[in-house]
Amino acid sequence: MSEYIIIGAGLAGIVLAERISTILDRKVLIIEKRDHIGGNCFDYYNNEGILVHKYGPHIFHTESKEVWNYLSNFTKWNEYQHKVLGYIDGKKVPIPFNLNTLKELLPKKSTVIKDKLIEKFGFNIKVPILDLRETKEKDLKFLANFVYEKVFFNYTKKQWGMKPEGLDPSVTARVPVYISKDNRYFQDKYQGMPKKDYTAIFEKMLRNENIKIMLNTSFKDVISIDFEKNKIYFQDHEFKGKLIFTGKIDEFFNYKFGELPYRSLKFDFETLNKEYFQEVGTVNYPNDHDFTRITEFKHLTRQKHPKTTIVKEYPQVHDRNVQGKDIPYYPIPKKENEELYAKYKEEAGKWDNIIFVGRLAEYKYYNMDIVVSRALNIFKEQIANE
Ligand code: FAD
Ligand code: UDP
Repeated sequence: MSEYIIIGAGLAGIVLAERISTILDRKVLIIEKRDHIGGNCFDYYNNEGILVHKYGPHIFHTESKEVWNYLSNFTKWNEYQHKVLGYIDGKKVPIPFNLNTLKELLPKKSTVIKDKLIEKFGFNIKVPILDLRETKEKDLKFLANFVYEKVFFNYTKKQWGMKPEGLDPSVTARVPVYISKDNRYFQDKYQGMPKKDYTAIFEKMLRNENIKIMLNTSFKDVISIDFEKNKIYFQDHEFKGKLIFTGKIDEFFNYKFGELPYRSLKFDFETLNKEYFQEVGTVNYPNDHDFTRITEFKHLTRQKHPKTTIVKEYPQVHDRNVQGKDIPYYPIPKKENEELYAKYKEEAGKWDNIIFVGRLAEYKYYNMDIVVSRALNIFKEQIANE
């Protein structure tokens, strides 16, 4: 029997499986309810032969040399700097809102506002919209309200079903007002897309005789937990190894304190009979349509093909019992949800032989690089030296 069982073949589970099987030379069993590995980072070639991301566009970017070097063991990269335009007032303008956006949308006032922004905050500085709204100065206040209404208010209502103030400020701070002429969506030191695809990276990471994978299997089909006696059973035998859980923490504890809220998405893929559909990888539609954004994969993947595939993202209220709304894409960062998560985290702390890691198990709005970093640290601190 394996000494390690990992629930979930997403990024968190895969990194830990790779480390345990390679560095420790121990056996790992991965249990995954979907019919594929890779979690939400899974990509594949559609019927037309175009590489698409099944669960929405994934662009890799990080400040961490360790994470970049680690993943580079399994892939070469295409140089790629993500660009996003926002469709605002009939124009497509750079997002995050920057000095170029200012000039395009407010040409008459742009010089005055630019000078005031630089005077107050400095050049090459990122200011979260909710902070900018705190300013008292007349022109900056005008700008803050303008950006809030044109870029953030309706997009956030669509994406989260609430106003920007209803969420933890870190959410809208992901896309700050940027006092710069840099039109890139991310400024991280390391950015790129896998030379082949994400799924090829994961296949390579899992190519080890120590790793066995059970797809199409929810952990509840094969694992039972005795919460009274703190015992884990795998197919009716007591499991005395280490369990690594990357699914929803509230599901693990049978929702005993109530459900942690999530936002879900519906993805609408279209393949068009033309080489390109739009100017850049992603165009955001804050104020028009029911979808938030359109991504055209060929810009990301650099694939050459006479046709092109785009995806529109329609935010949904998450409901684990309704197909099409049942995937918990985004934890909803806000105080009361953090408090509910804290109760589950306390329960998790009572188990020495279970590690909870990843976006769902930690209920955190993590990017891919942070998940890799978490998994690498957990390996070093809680697994390698045992
Ligand atoms: P997941 O990928 O969710 O993996 C968890 C796995 O556990 C899944 O495979 C799931 O099926 C499985 N599982 C769940 N419950 C059970 C169960 N009961 N039994 C068995 N298996 C189970 N990050 C970036 O850095 N750049 C981006 O551009 C980016 N774009 C994104 C776009 C969208 C629309 C979304 C939703 C996320 C994006 N992310 C991006 C974030 C990225 O997807 C996550 O950081 C990453 O996938 C998290 O990995 P994980 O292993 O924690 O979770
Ligand atoms: N956001 C917005 N308008 C935009 C882009 C982002 O209001 O044009 C807000 C919105 O609340 C969104 C958040 O900023 O959910 C984070 O955006 P990001 O692009 O990082 O979201 P993700 O790619 O994770 O879906």
